[in-house]
Amino acid sequence: MSTMHTEILVIGGGPAGLSAALTLSRARRDVVVLDSGEPRNAPAQRAHGLLGLEGIRPLDLLARGREEVTSYGGRIIHDRVAHAQADDGAFQVEAESGRRIQAGTLLIATGTRDILPDLPGLAERWGRDVIHCPYCHGWEIRDQRIGVLATGPMSAMQALMFGQWSPQVQFYPQGLDYPADQLAKLTATGITIADRRVTGLAVQGDALTGVVLDDTRVNPLDALVVPATTRARLDGLDGLGLQIEESEAATTLVADAAGHTSVPGVWAAGNVVNPAMQISEAAANGARVAMTLNTELIFQHAENKTQESVS
Ligand SMILES: Cc1cc2nc3c(=O)[nH]c(=O)nc-3n(C[C@H](O)[C@H](O)[C@H](O)COP(=O)(O)OP(=O)(O)OC[C@H]3O[C@@H](n4cnc5c(N)ncnc54)[C@H](O)[C@@H]3O)c2cc1C
Repeated sequence: MSTMHTEILVIGGGPAGLSAALTLSRARRDVVVLDSGEPRNAPAQRAHGLLGLEGIRPLDLLARGREEVTSYGGRIIHDRVAHAQADDGAFQVEAESGRRIQAGTLLIATGTRDILPDLPGLAERWGRDVIHCPYCHGWEIRDQRIGVLATGPMSAMQALMFGQWSPQVQFYPQGLDYPADQLAKLTATGITIADRRVTGLAVQGDALTGVVLDDTRVNPLDALVVPATTRARLDGLDGLGLQIEESEAATTLVADAAGHTSVPGVWAAGNVVNPAMQISEAAANGARVAMTLNTELIFQHAENKTQESVS
């Protein structure tokens, strides 16, 4: 297979990557987006909190974005990175299909992966009635019976958050220790604290009906909140030698506020650098990083031309 050449390769075509590609295409850059088509919120029926697009289906949003990018000449390839490396002033990327792309600049917008607790049946319900984000799903489960499953140090505060959306919130500490003042805030605001562990989910048809406790009783619920930990999606990108940051809650790709990673010529935007970004923030971040990238390329070009003219 012959090698495709492009000025800028955007890896990841979610809100951050497509927004960056739109900005770059409109700046008359030659842009290719390589995307495996599995955005983080794909399991959710609707995307919320998006001004002007409230309630749009996640995949419809991206289909619109792809059309917008291609309308300005951007190229979109459905494939997954298998290997990437810097080579002689450019980047060589090989996709799973065997396709090869050579690019002068890379922009990584591959998002993040939610790591869920290992409870049978939980992953299948993710994004529907097992959720994590009050701003994405809180309105849809307002006033319902909500359980919050502890997964780490921030879980008690997550329970407190959901108290804004429903007066029926129950917190399951799962044997983890929480500071007494945090637990006092829960009980003072009407959130109950369970004394049994959750060992499974109760499901009828295709709906969560409760959680199974370690004494086999079922506690009825309409939704279960699971504050997931996250890992930056960097499959196939190890060869670039990018700096990664690890904490208890997340693994992220290190980039400065402008989007520069630790490797010159490689930029990053969206959830891969900050898993807390909502869709609108990831898109805005992609656009902003693209503008800075474009500006740096303009200055670099002018600098090169100046050097050429004086030599
Ligand atoms: C269940 C759920 C519901 C959510 N609901 C909302 C909501 O209602 N409103 C809201 O604002 N936010 C919501 N979010 C958050 C939202 O998903 C993120 O803000 C958004 O997806 C971040 O965009 P991104 O472009 O950084 O990453 P993503 O959207 O995850 O896009 C990354 C893209 O990169 C591709 N990719 C990854 N690795 C590779 C590779 N190696 N090669 C090629 N392509 C690759 C992926 O396939 C994907 O298409 C939700 C999150 C979850 C988990």
